[in-house]
Amino acid sequence: MVKKVIVLGGGAAGFFGAITCAQKYPGVQVVLVEAGPEVLAKVRISGGGRCNVTHACFEPGLLVQNYPRGSKALRGAFTRFQPQDTIEWFASQGVELKTEADGRMFPTTDNSATITHCLEQAAIEAGVQIWTKSAAVGVSREQGQFLVELRRGEQLRGDRLLLATGSNPQGYKIAEALGHSLIPPVPSLFTFNITDPRLSELSGVSLEQVKLRLIPEEKNPHKTPSKTSNKTSLEQTGAFLITHWGVSGPAVLKLSAWAARVLHDQQYQGQLIINWLPAYNPEVLRQQLTAIKGQLPQRSIASSCPFPVPKRLWQKLVNYLGVSDGQKWAELSKKTLNQLIEELTQGSYAIEGKGVFKEEFVTCGGVPLGEVDFKTMESKICPGLYLAGEVLDIDGVTGGFNFQSAWTTGYLAGLGLGS
Ligand SMILES: Cc1cc2nc3c(=O)[nH]c(=O)nc-3n(C[C@H](O)[C@H](O)[C@H](O)COP(=O)(O)OP(=O)(O)OC[C@H]3O[C@@H](n4cnc5c(N)ncnc54)[C@H](O)[C@@H]3O)c2cc1C
Repeated sequence: MVKKVIVLGGGAAGFFGAITCAQKYPGVQVVLVEAGPEVLAKVRISGGGRCNVTHACFEPGLLVQNYPRGSKALRGAFTRFQPQDTIEWFASQGVELKTEADGRMFPTTDNSATITHCLEQAAIEAGVQIWTKSAAVGVSREQGQFLVELRRGEQLRGDRLLLATGSNPQGYKIAEALGHSLIPPVPSLFTFNITDPRLSELSGVSLEQVKLRLIPEEKNPHKTPSKTSNKTSLEQTGAFLITHWGVSGPAVLKLSAWAARVLHDQQYQGQLIINWLPAYNPEVLRQQLTAIKGQLPQRSIASSCPFPVPKRLWQKLVNYLGVSDGQKWAELSKKTLNQLIEELTQGSYAIEGKGVFKEEFVTCGGVPLGEVDFKTMESKICPGLYLAGEVLDIDGVTGGFNFQSAWTTGYLAGLGLGS
């Protein structure tokens, strides 16, 4: 008989678990314990302060393709709670979400406070007790119950425990103390630092579609290659942005997520191969360049770009190949034409390190998914323990997928906790 449930962590997953449990099992006392002075801190700063709540993708089979880690385990979980359920859940609390052109969903207010306020209200109405400034420093089992020790000296007892501590090291320690193993956490969703004359002074220039390929630097050739280091995962197509420090945009962020572990292992060094014109094959490029040479022989190469790339970028690329600003198409040598085709379709740029993407950040690694029953989110190692959110080895690409996995696993854990 479950009388009392303790939820460790007042983030997206902890709140969804606590609210669901309290709503579905009114007889169960739910206490949510949060280390920080405020709950839902990440939700508040998420999506640049707008909170990208979920993504308008309603087919579980397609949805899971956005998770470099967790896709297999989430497949079934998404048949039970998916973005459509998230939309309906928030609507039932009076919060409407809207979809942007790229599929990201935000509250219509464009303000993350709408989401934090809604979750706090729902928790209070469901009778969840919220304890802030209450870091859990240890958990043990005693006579079938969980004994939670708080840093401030108190102890809490519960029949069941939800571990929803995100990527916090203390949370990982608690999971390990309760018998779980840990896949070492490393960052995901980051930009690439690149210093290259072809990109200098182009900060702010963006392209709707480029194709990127990553060749990681072989710093440690004896290391076993990571599971996600296969060809497809190291290639991404999408929008692209040149920044002060290097490159960013959806294509870069997706690549950083799929290659998170490989790049970590190679100390964030490698070669980024950029195809600026993925819609063109090299032969078509050659034909078009040869045609323009014949049609506009007296026009300067640098000022007449025949392809859909930003003019400033085109100018940089041709200058990089030694073409001066006044040089005419008639003067384009066969060698430079070949180099230009290569530059446009497979220019190589040295990645020198990892940058920060301020709008979203997530950790790859955590509790292995094989140690959890994804129907209920109960631990297979420690009965009565449930796990949800980023503490698990789940992470998605940017676009609302990370919160969606927190809502889904939190919701399923909430159902399991009181049963
Ligand atoms: C800047 C930023 C922006 C983001 N924007 C988006 C976005 O727009 N869309 C999206 O999908 N994802 C976004 N993410 C990712 C998203 O925030 C996370 O995937 C999500 O918050 C994970 O939820 P969680 O509940 O598992 O963990 P968290 O949100 O990290 O919550 C864990 C909570 O547990 C508490 N805690 C930890 N240890 C203890 C302990 N020992 N005792 C008690 N409490 C503890 C922490 O203080 C924290 O409040 C963003 C992340 C960042 C950093």
